[in-house]
Amino acid sequence: MAAYDVIILGAGAMGSAAAYHLSKADQRVLLLEQFDLTHERGSSNDHTRIIRYSYSKPEYIRLMQTAYPMWFALEDISGEKLYTKTGGIDFGKSDEPRFRDTLHSLQAMNIPHDVLSPSEAQQRFPLFRFDDDMQVVYQADYGILAASKCNETHRRLAEQHGATILANTPVISIKPLPDGVEIKTPDAIHSAARVVITAGAWTNDLLEQVGITLPLTPLRVQLAYFEPENLADYAAPDFPVFISHLPEHAMYGIPSYAGSGLKVAFHGGEPAKHVSEINYAPDDARIEAIRRFSRRHLPGADAPLKFTRICLYTMTPDEDFIMDIHPEYPQIVFASPCSGHGFKFSTLFGSILTDLALTGSTAYDISLFRMNRFEMA
Ligand SMILES: Cc1cc2nc3c(=O)[nH]c(=O)nc-3n(C[C@H](O)[C@H](O)[C@H](O)COP(=O)(O)OP(=O)(O)OC[C@H]3O[C@@H](n4cnc5c(N)ncnc54)[C@H](O)[C@@H]3O)c2cc1C
Repeated sequence: MAAYDVIILGAGAMGSAAAYHLSKADQRVLLLEQFDLTHERGSSNDHTRIIRYSYSKPEYIRLMQTAYPMWFALEDISGEKLYTKTGGIDFGKSDEPRFRDTLHSLQAMNIPHDVLSPSEAQQRFPLFRFDDDMQVVYQADYGILAASKCNETHRRLAEQHGATILANTPVISIKPLPDGVEIKTPDAIHSAARVVITAGAWTNDLLEQVGITLPLTPLRVQLAYFEPENLADYAAPDFPVFISHLPEHAMYGIPSYAGSGLKVAFHGGEPAKHVSEINYAPDDARIEAIRRFSRRHLPGADAPLKFTRICLYTMTPDEDFIMDIHPEYPQIVFASPCSGHGFKFSTLFGSILTDLALTGSTAYDISLFRMNRFEMA
């Protein structure tokens, strides 16, 4: 008999959540991470991530209707505060497609929201500056997830359910066997009935060994946390999360949380052929572009930098996630729910990955995420 029921490759947000849900389902779980558990070379470790219903595609709103209560349940079970409700605003020109579709989807899904004119929005959010031809949509459930704490919480609970977690343990190879998989690390060969690959921007390094190359592009994303003079005015829970939908670029901001500073960033970054080519040095030109946005729409944020770093997006061509089962080896399940917006789903996706690994299907609608939507070599 294999030593484990399921081995999970990669302990970012998705792998940590999968370890929790699989171990809770009485599986003997091994979670392997190539770096230390709080490393900042992937996508998941940071002060905060946005959680929201506001999505242009209703499928995501439907998934969030399950994910929100799952986060609340995780808070109850763990005793940790993970979610802070701040409310949030989307703003842009009303004919910008993603902004227009977001408003339609909120309406279609009956998610309460307020549509504000620039002057109404200005009164309600006096620190912002909106152009006269903009529209602003406020949604009260927007908030912040304490990102690194969410991942730690999933892992802590997984260990309480008996999971084994090994950091600084890179997986070198995967070998499908007739009744499972064999996973090789520098020091050992582990066997299991199933494997779940949640390796972020490194996913193809592993999947290519079993004949699959996904259309994933690592992006170098510049993060910047600013320290306005009156930081308390820009802090959770009173200051809102924001997302701008501008033709030139999409920007977003997250209120200061536990003294983090106000985060303002681009949604997007510089593509690399392979994650090994990512330059983790700060990108001064991007930081200046963030400041240009702030000077126009949030002048107080054009302030001293408190903290800056590079983070990775793993992008698909359509920005929808990938979550699927290997067509030839059903014991191999994989997920790359990033494209810069996956974190808020992680506790739900841990549960869906559990469904896929144990039963080969899930009751949730993940049709958007199937790999066969792409033509692959
Ligand atoms: C700057 C930034 C801002 C974001 N903002 C938001 C937001 O506001 N809201 C939101 O919902 N989402 C947001 N996201 C997206 C979200 O963070 C990601 O969707 C999520 O973190 C992806 O998690 P992951 O587990 O798939 O990947 P990762 O976090 O990259 O984890 C993969 C892990 O696998 C490990 N690994 C890889 N190869 C191996 C191997 N061979 N052996 C062992 N381990 C291996 C890696 O070291 C890594 O730790 C943002 C992302 C970034 C970068």
